[in-house]
Amino acid sequence: MTKIFSKLFVLAGFVSSVYSFAWGLTGHRVIAEIAENHLDCRARHQIKKLLGKERMAYWANWPDFIKSDTTNAYKNTFQWHYVNVDPQPDFDSFAKAVQTQQQPNLYNQIPLLAAKVKDKKLPLQERKTALIFLIHLMGDLSQPMHTGRAGDLGGNKIKVNFFGQPTNLHAVWDGKLIDSQKYSYTEYARLLDIKTRKERKAIQAGTLTDWLYDSHKIANKIYHETPDGSNLGYDYEYKFDSTVERQLLYGGLRLAKMLNDIFS
Ligand SMILES: [Zn+2]
Repeated sequence: MTKIFSKLFVLAGFVSSVYSFAWGLTGHRVIAEIAENHLDCRARHQIKKLLGKERMAYWANWPDFIKSDTTNAYKNTFQWHYVNVDPQPDFDSFAKAVQTQQQPNLYNQIPLLAAKVKDKKLPLQERKTALIFLIHLMGDLSQPMHTGRAGDLGGNKIKVNFFGQPTNLHAVWDGKLIDSQKYSYTEYARLLDIKTRKERKAIQAGTLTDWLYDSHKIANKIYHETPDGSNLGYDYEYKFDSTVERQLLYGGLRLAKMLNDIFS
């Protein structure tokens, strides 16, 4: 009996590791922590009312954790974490491609969640859940492979080796590049969050579609530089570490901007 169970667990672990769908734990926490550093007084106060004493980083991964909920209560949220779109040559065609998608996705859920967080007529618990999703999805937005192609599931189907270990392109960008730096999320946040006020303003400019297109352009570059079967190691890290750092920082600053706007 025990043997059967342990085999089932191995199988379940294998299935859940085949595809991954989010920045890893550290990435989401870095983004939440950087955002929390840049909340204005009003936003900080309102967020405290919704989240209580816990920091935003504490909740940042919850929308991924609930994918393991055995009651399937959150199944309708699984598509919210990404917007897959084939490579688009310019902003206008990208905007059109995401605007015409009917299914729930990153592009159409973020404004709905922001409206819920803002709506003081809604029950506190509903606004809290919306806020936690917003914190998480604004992180996913800055993971380039969450704006990748539909055909390969944002790089999930592109097989690569990372330091000799078989994995896929999406997983490399979710966590492997981040984790191999061996910083904690607070160390990462402290090291990256060093921009001047003027630089931060420039990073926070633009619309949700601008920010998604920003990620999409990077995704196209990643696809180009990482064909199926690539062997990735130190040279790949060297090439892309600054991109990973940029995306974590930009994700955090843009999340702060969105939250400050919501509570303004
Ligand atoms: Zn996610």
